[in-house]
Amino acid sequence: MTALFALSFTVRANAAETVTVVIDPGHGGVSEDGSETNSGCRYHDLEEKNVNLTTAQAIYNELLQYGNVKVYLTRENDVEKTLDERVEFAKSVNADVIVSVHYNASAEHNFFGSEIFTSAYGECYATGHALAEHIMDKWVSEGNIRKDIKTRIGKKGDYYGLIRKGTEAGIPTIILEHGYLDNDRDYQRIRTEDAWRNFGILDATGIAEFYGLDKDVIRESVGPVDELKVPTDPVMPDSTEPTGVKLVIDDYNSNKGNVDFTLYAYDNESKLMYYGFRTGDVDKDTVFAELELWDGKNGKLSGSFHVQPGYEGKLTAKVYNVYQLDSLSNTVELVPDEEAPDDEEDNAVVPTEDENVDSYDTSGSESAADASEENDWVIGGSLPAVDTSAIANAIEHNTESKVQRSYTGLIIVSLIATITIVVAIVVSISTAADKRRGSKKDKKDLY
Ligand SMILES: [Zn+2]
Repeated sequence: MTALFALSFTVRANAAETVTVVIDPGHGGVSEDGSETNSGCRYHDLEEKNVNLTTAQAIYNELLQYGNVKVYLTRENDVEKTLDERVEFAKSVNADVIVSVHYNASAEHNFFGSEIFTSAYGECYATGHALAEHIMDKWVSEGNIRKDIKTRIGKKGDYYGLIRKGTEAGIPTIILEHGYLDNDRDYQRIRTEDAWRNFGILDATGIAEFYGLDKDVIRESVGPVDELKVPTDPVMPDSTEPTGVKLVIDDYNSNKGNVDFTLYAYDNESKLMYYGFRTGDVDKDTVFAELELWDGKNGKLSGSFHVQPGYEGKLTAKVYNVYQLDSLSNTVELVPDEEAPDDEEDNAVVPTEDENVDSYDTSGSESAADASEENDWVIGGSLPAVDTSAIANAIEHNTESKVQRSYTGLIIVSLIATITIVVAIVVSISTAADKRRGSKKDKKDLY
């Protein structure tokens, strides 16, 4: 991608009196016998075509409050329109841009996040991508998860017919995939009509921002506020899987089924997006049904998750990039804890283990029954919905802000104090451990 931009030229798009925006609510239609013709994805009693229309109408209503803009909808109710008809309509009104409104679903219902597709070619890429960034910013500012702005190539060029036909007509065309209706991680946030309308307002705000429009203000001329970088070659989607996916188990507490792990993965071409775990045998086609957001830094992510208490066997991770290309990790064997022998000298974890055994015992057989009801690989510790680029920014930021030197003295003093305290604690723990080893022996005899 970087190399491509070296081969790009910059244009400042011509300003004009008005910007003409065609909003395209994806799908739609009921045939004469009452059967659906093109519903889009369906899930949770939702039909995508209806959700799309609600969002599209909200974009329309919101944009009309701005000056210097003409707005059209390719459909205003539940009718079928071919892609050709939609693009022909856009041509007939001299559209500057086509914004197609969609919601997503995936075959295994495991993906989540918001993504935008643009043409891979020339000025349609440049305009589409720059506009998409403004819209994506608005989405992310309200807690949506960035699945990035992408191109997709098929045999005929741009994969999506609307983008391909729009681009052929010289009209930058983008497809907004607001979120996944079939994945709870998105669905719980986007399932209401209010949420669909709110997306429309965010989309309109992003569009207005990109074209320099203001509410109730009429300017002499308006146009894209960004410098547009026009690539000389098609901007290709990533076609390679993440590399170097390695799973390391830092700690396995088999009593609780708690696995602390570090996962390594790299992708030079695109952002990493998800990771997940499976116990047992897996191969390339095994579905990893529960995915978490990859928020690792510098190719490394540490966390913890749960397996069935006492689980003994294989564990494998899978990591996906934003293009949904995935790689399996190495497979590790989880081995349940063994009781530490009484005469083991360097057994610093004995006090903690005793506590665990105690609390496990007091909760009785109920918790054991509950645990067996659970999936054998429930992923724990819900990760915050963060944008990976935001994290990258944060890292940059942190690197820039250096620790003030005046604190150095203070830090050294605190370090010395901490070390002294730690030494004192270690001494007292080892004394206590010696005592507890005796009591542990007694307890064992009760089983
Ligand atoms: Zn759709």
